[in-house]
Amino acid sequence: MNVADVAGVPEWLPDHLREGGIEELYPPQAEAVEAGVTEGESLVASVPTASGKTLIAELAMLSSVARGGTALYIVPLRALASEKREEFAEYERYGLSVGVATGNYEAEGEWLASCDLIVATSEKVDSLVRNDAPWLRDLSCVVADEVHLVDDPSRGPTLEVTLAKLRRLNPSLQTVALSATIGNAGAIAEWLDAALVDSDWRPIDLRKGVHYGQALHFDDGDKRELPVRGNEKPTAAIVRDTLDEDGSTLVFVNSRRNAEGAAKRLAGVTGEALTPEEEERLAAVAEEIRGVSDTETSDDLAAAVERGAAFHHAGCAPEHRSLVEDAFRDRLIKVVSATPTLAAGVNTPSRRVVVRDWRRYDGSVGGMKPLSVLEVHQMFGRAGRPGLDPYGEALLLANSHDELDELFERYVWADPEAVESKLAAEPALRTHVLATVASGFAGSREELLAFLDRTLYATQTDEQGRLERVTEDVIAYLVANDFLERDGDDLTATSLGHTVSRLYLDPMSAAEIIDGVRDGDGRPSALGLYHLVCRTPDMYELYLRSGDREEYTMLAHEREEELLGAIPSEFEEGRWEDWLSALKTARMLEDWAEEVEEDRIAERYGVGPGDVRGKVDTAEWLLSAAERLAGELDLGSAPAVREARVRVRHGVSEELIDLAGVRGVGRKRARRLYDAGVTDRAALRSADKSVVLGALRGRRGTAETVLKNAGREDTSMDGVSADASAAPDAESGSDSAAVGPGGGDRDDQSSLGDF
Ligand code: ADP
Repeated sequence: MNVADVAGVPEWLPDHLREGGIEELYPPQAEAVEAGVTEGESLVASVPTASGKTLIAELAMLSSVARGGTALYIVPLRALASEKREEFAEYERYGLSVGVATGNYEAEGEWLASCDLIVATSEKVDSLVRNDAPWLRDLSCVVADEVHLVDDPSRGPTLEVTLAKLRRLNPSLQTVALSATIGNAGAIAEWLDAALVDSDWRPIDLRKGVHYGQALHFDDGDKRELPVRGNEKPTAAIVRDTLDEDGSTLVFVNSRRNAEGAAKRLAGVTGEALTPEEEERLAAVAEEIRGVSDTETSDDLAAAVERGAAFHHAGCAPEHRSLVEDAFRDRLIKVVSATPTLAAGVNTPSRRVVVRDWRRYDGSVGGMKPLSVLEVHQMFGRAGRPGLDPYGEALLLANSHDELDELFERYVWADPEAVESKLAAEPALRTHVLATVASGFAGSREELLAFLDRTLYATQTDEQGRLERVTEDVIAYLVANDFLERDGDDLTATSLGHTVSRLYLDPMSAAEIIDGVRDGDGRPSALGLYHLVCRTPDMYELYLRSGDREEYTMLAHEREEELLGAIPSEFEEGRWEDWLSALKTARMLEDWAEEVEEDRIAERYGVGPGDVRGKVDTAEWLLSAAERLAGELDLGSAPAVREARVRVRHGVSEELIDLAGVRGVGRKRARRLYDAGVTDRAALRSADKSVVLGALRGRRGTAETVLKNAGREDTSMDGVSADASAAPDAESGSDSAAVGPGGGDRDDQSSLGDF
């Protein structure tokens, strides 16, 4: 189908697509148009990775907007929200306004209401529904990207319930769900009352195979020699072979440590193949990477990048990840070893994909578990760059003949699994039952069950009584904790319940926090509060490594007085371990708030800069929730909670809170200013400029900005010379002040309640 023949789209679109090199629709796109996607029809598109799903979504959204409507695009990861927003920003020149909902909803509510096209995560949309954002009622089209993630136990239920609520708010809403190829796309279509496009078409051929011994074995029966040298690993041999054909390789491994190890080793292979010009350009990228944060992760990544290799995982700072992705797309970086986070959406195709590890550690089974066919096929889908490569190759690695056969059976020839709703799990229901009642979608047990009946779960279960039973337990829990009131069959949310729902807390986290801040009435310590929020199900704790058990048991005894709530017995294996993991996480936050250097923290706790930032963001959000709850319950601990929150936000001790709150200052600059005698915001306004300039290491631009942000009128640094005594360690190291937990010169170090 030619782009000129698509009905219902804005008149400028065909030319726009042609400009971007798109003349003919891909077959699945044409099918979607035939199914009415540009005329308001709901659709599920189950199509392989990189086969043009985004354009299907755009056709739906743009035609909906052309009819005067508003479209919402739901992404599965926060990192993808800004990427998609940038992608859609190209439509701004045709008069569309494009927004992304990430931060504080109150601040951006009005602005979002004026947008034509909005990008948000499902958690963010859920939170907007709970806060009753009025523009949600005016939506005409919603797109759910990667809808197969309804299968994910931790995040799937939110997507599922959110779609059900949006459809309830707007009965005529067009729902477009994009999915990888899955076993039961029909069931999803049925749930959403949508037409189905179920295709395995790809724009570029994909050859799937397994490397074993000295050869590649392909799915079409073909065999090609690929020798592995003496003490070389198969992955290195494959990367070398790909380089001979001037191609790049994406290697998927099962842990961050493995990703880093592989990049280091593979750099030995790629390093030999670089031209002097490539070396020079890579050195520049490496320098940028070092500038992101002064941690070991940053240094290791830069060292690999200099030689044409890189790793990519959730422990890297976002700036690291985008530098790596860009250089990989520019074909400067020849190999990236990644954990599967990369497969979930970031568009980085590569000539060859190697799925090196097909098993991953799974805490719930206490051992290694094979990846699903769906996951492996999504990684496979990254192979082959249309227009650049003749075809893509996706490979697994076998160590024995038996494994060769097994991998063919298990992955190469296998069809992906069916996705299954995880809504009936208690933690998910606990959260969503409260929110559903609090935001007025159900006022009684009957209405609640009727609402849940519109979810995917209800269409999939054949165990009729189960949902009802779990719902009953959950209601009892919510009533016992004073979040819901029950009168016969009627259900209403208490004022506390409303707050918890709006704060987007798991009710169990809220109950734990309330219990803790009651216990700490008076003046709980920062460590006590950090530990409290780290214990909630909303925080991912750090793992205990060998020796940690003893260390943190000792710490628990030393600082017992400060810890809030009941302490479990050391003999309760699981609970005690969890409680200690929370203590370790809390200790890391305490270090951060006591101005310990970022690289020291990374080393001491065995984490990357992205982890520090993640924990800090979550802790800040949970503490702000704790502050609200303490306020609502009129507890005396609210000011202490506030102080602990601000300290963790900026990573500073108490005395620096005021200074660190000035935009552009941050933890390191605050410390240097303070030590030079400029102890707070007011002092900045009257301080001797040469002292300020000295403390800021002679950076005039920075000094002027900081003074302006502190509210000073005369900010000019012209003719001012830096007071050397204000910068005692000016000689040593680079000025990385104001570097947030994950690096970068972030003025605003984290965004509250931002999903
Ligand atoms: P998916 O979302 O399915 O993983 P994308 O939507 O990212 O895949 O599409 C992959 C690439 O294909 C993009 O670079 C896109 O511009 C290109 N593309 C999409 N549709 C067409 C088309 N009809 N003709 C040519 N290229 C296309």
